Amino acid sequence: MRTLNNICKMSLRFITNVLTKLLCQHQGSLDFKNLQKILQENYSCLEKVVSDVLSDSSRFVIIEGDEPSGNLIFSPDTLIVAKTSLRVCQSLPDQCEWCENLHLCRYFVCGDCKNGTKCRFSHNLDSLHNSEVLKRVDVMYLEEEELFQLLLQNDPYLLPEVCPHYNKGNGDHGSCRFKAACTNLHICRHFLQDDCKFRAECKRAHAFDAKSTKILSGKSLSSANIDIIYKIYKNKLLITHYKDKTVLKIPEKIMSMVKDRPKKTSTNLISEPDQNEICLYFILRRCHFRGNCARVHHHLPYKWQVLDRDGETWRDFPNGEDIERAYCDPANDKSDSGNQSVDFVSMTCQGLSVRRLSTVSSITRPPNFILTTEWHWYWKNEQGVWTEYGQLGDEKDEATITSRTLENVYTNSTENEIFLSNYKLHFKDMYEQNMRNNVKRTVRRRPRFVSAQEVENKLKRYITTILT
Ligand SMILES: [Zn+2]
Ligand SMILES: [Zn+2]
Ligand SMILES: [Zn+2]
Ligand SMILES: [Zn+2]
Ligand SMILES: [Zn+2]
Repeated sequence: MRTLNNICKMSLRFITNVLTKLLCQHQGSLDFKNLQKILQENYSCLEKVVSDVLSDSSRFVIIEGDEPSGNLIFSPDTLIVAKTSLRVCQSLPDQCEWCENLHLCRYFVCGDCKNGTKCRFSHNLDSLHNSEVLKRVDVMYLEEEELFQLLLQNDPYLLPEVCPHYNKGNGDHGSCRFKAACTNLHICRHFLQDDCKFRAECKRAHAFDAKSTKILSGKSLSSANIDIIYKIYKNKLLITHYKDKTVLKIPEKIMSMVKDRPKKTSTNLISEPDQNEICLYFILRRCHFRGNCARVHHHLPYKWQVLDRDGETWRDFPNGEDIERAYCDPANDKSDSGNQSVDFVSMTCQGLSVRRLSTVSSITRPPNFILTTEWHWYWKNEQGVWTEYGQLGDEKDEATITSRTLENVYTNSTENEIFLSNYKLHFKDMYEQNMRNNVKRTVRRRPRFVSAQEVENKLKRYITTILT
């Protein structure tokens, strides 16, 4: 049993890894009651930390249960599913030199590659390319079997699809025109998702029949995997079903919301890149899109620009690093750069619009991604002193609100204002209001300062780790 002190020192990253491993050992998902039980028996994790970790929507999908949650952060029947952005490369072995995906035989992942040692696709997870890929998405601590479980429920390329046409219309084959010859699975998708309201009365198949099993073994799925195929598909459908929804994973107990913030683009891995986003891979010297990359190529994780008088051309400030240094101190209203001073509140310089391009927020990527932008949230007291949320010395009665919680809500929510504990936070006008005494305070969201030198050092370290 680990002590509370130790667990406090353990990083969120460590707990993310523990949880992923646990889920993969239990066929890819667990309900909160069982997960909680295993955690309590083996670790003394703080509830708050677990809820923070589970709010990482790039790693976990949470399907809220119906049972009363009592004192727990989630109701006991809430289902937690392991998610990953990791995929198997679809190119032939000699046709892809480098990509972000595993160079691995898909049948090997399915558990039963008939070609064995003669297979032209790689069966080697320890190759230089694969180790680098595993390190990047932070799953190198998973055993082979655990990793394959994770891939099977996440990578749509590995398993045959549930036929969407079979699931529409009437007749034995629904509206599928391939009928018995269809290579997709003819099975009720709601049965797989555990939400078929017709139950035994349903006209579609509620079991993997002989035909489905044949299709699956044709894809080299091992018999061990066929035994748990229902669970693999259930997880797979839940992950796909929930990927497009912006689901807030902050327990409702500490939060409820009011609507009206304008929609902004979601920031997950599958979304369209933001044109104002700086390409992480370019900084790491690994962007293979070159001139075709949809993101901005710049050697720093931030870039300050001013709009020309023509109203169209954005010009770089020559002293971007100095402006950034000033911006990172929440107490600064403007940069101290003579007549080129940038007003951070109105985001202007001599009446012209100013913008700050940025790499993605660190909370939208696994913790091992370097050079993402780490945002901190501050509030100002009556003496004009800025304090970061959740820091020691924070005089508030509620220490539960941290920079990370706020950043999570801000990035994942489309709301204009949210309620956290006893506070209302207004994201558009950037203030918080204490709901008990109505006191309003100014709030600022500023990044952690990263110098050009720090970028250089991180890059050197990164290059050494991927080569060793
Ligand atoms: Zn590839
Ligand atoms: Zn193979
Ligand atoms: Zn079909
Ligand atoms: Zn059904
Ligand atoms: Zn790029």
